[in-house]
Amino acid sequence: MSAAPAALSTGTYRQLYINGQWVDSSSGKRNPVNNPATEEPISEVAFGTREDCKKAIEAAKNAMPGWAKLTAWDRAKILKKAAELIRERADGIARTLTMEQGKPLPEAKGEILQTADTFEWFAEEGKRAYGDIIPNSVPGKRHLTFRHPVGVVGAIGPWNFPVALLSRKMAPALAVGCTIVCKPATQTPLSLINIFDCLIEAGLPAGVANFVIGPAKDIGDEFIENPIVRKISFTGSTEVGKMLMRGAAGHVKRLSLELGGHAPFIVFPDADPEAVAKAAVMGKFRNNGQVCISPSRFFVHKDISKKFIEVAVAAAKNLKLGNGLDAGTEIGPMFEKKAMENTIKLVEDASGKGATLLTGGKRCDRFAKGYFFEPTILTGLTDDARVLTDEPFAPVMPIMEFSTIDEAIAKANNTAYGLAAYVFTNDLTTTFKMAEGIEAGMIGVNDPVPATVQAPFGGMKESGMGRELSREGLDGYLETKHISIRLKD
Ligand code: ADP
Repeated sequence: MSAAPAALSTGTYRQLYINGQWVDSSSGKRNPVNNPATEEPISEVAFGTREDCKKAIEAAKNAMPGWAKLTAWDRAKILKKAAELIRERADGIARTLTMEQGKPLPEAKGEILQTADTFEWFAEEGKRAYGDIIPNSVPGKRHLTFRHPVGVVGAIGPWNFPVALLSRKMAPALAVGCTIVCKPATQTPLSLINIFDCLIEAGLPAGVANFVIGPAKDIGDEFIENPIVRKISFTGSTEVGKMLMRGAAGHVKRLSLELGGHAPFIVFPDADPEAVAKAAVMGKFRNNGQVCISPSRFFVHKDISKKFIEVAVAAAKNLKLGNGLDAGTEIGPMFEKKAMENTIKLVEDASGKGATLLTGGKRCDRFAKGYFFEPTILTGLTDDARVLTDEPFAPVMPIMEFSTIDEAIAKANNTAYGLAAYVFTNDLTTTFKMAEGIEAGMIGVNDPVPATVQAPFGGMKESGMGRELSREGLDGYLETKHISIRLKD
């Protein structure tokens, strides 16, 4: 057992990881990482260049033949060892994650443990990247398929779950024999660096996984234009996803996109309005609503809406805001100042169009520093309120009413997004009508937390393409080769 290292301490400087070496940026530039609870810098990270990204891609190319040649069983040994190290160090890595991202420590620890599960799951799943033997239609011929690693992968991740979301790309890619260059969000690189430490200590060969950070557009352009990169896997905004898709089209480059969402949360009259309102508040304000599957449009049946709203407002007012490192904190700061300012604008826009503010709506003035925002509930919204049309990514809960199943389905689908949806009912017919009628990749029925490593995660419509996690999570990193054999008579 290795000694569990502490989280990155304040003032620690970390570098890029290219070809098995920790290195400075070729420009010498460093970037501060700030704590959103204190607005203080906690660390510095080398801020790379397009040239550094190119070197990382070259390293991944050179490492690919050796890595792909290993058996899935040998690759799994390394990935499972990394999972074990991640679990051992979960407390320290979670502290780092809380400090750079803001989420409360128990949630951060949950994300780290989920990351360990992801590496372990795909280590095993890589052993099951089966091909087929296909019955022949012409005598003397035989057809079979191999599943072949797609090649060097460029992976880009966001800041809201900086470790869990990139691990959904790294683990399947590495398990099937691809090599990878990872770019986390500039603001949240530290906890991912801790995951790299675990992979390295577990014995990952040089060049197989590389860590770069730098100007996002430069790195994105290098992933698109460098022919060595065969696949781009992106989690982030729909806007950047569309840009990458346009760029990738020019090179017919493989692409997986996990983009924005605007999840409906629909409560039928047979559900318990009190219990569901409490679950709704926990689900909505987790990570301040900065979650792509966050419930963000609440439709409550008119017969129970009064009770639901009353309980939701009381529960929202009771949530304990604070520094994520403090025991008992339920809601940390928002991730950055811009996010908080955008939330204020969303509330002003809705109020200006006639919505009623029931609680929150402003920065929490108990805190002298940090981007703390009061959990906010709005009713009486018009359809054109921006909080309903744009992906909010904010601690705002807009509550509307509905009367019939058809109306609920129409309202749920009245968006360009189709990532997650939530339905609360105990009626089997309603369950099936909603599950079949809603255009979303994931539907939680009486379940506010549907995501789990063994089930597919991804969206319909403008929420993306491809699925991560589950056995389908391997597909994005594999090409199918058909081998047709003519036997001698
Ligand atoms: P968010 O709203 O979550 O910040 P973004 O899509 O802006 O979503 O960011 C998600 C990730 O995409 C981050 O790592 C960010 O640095 C990166 N990114 C932003 N712009 C580009 C771009 N033009 N090309 C490639 N990656 C980008």
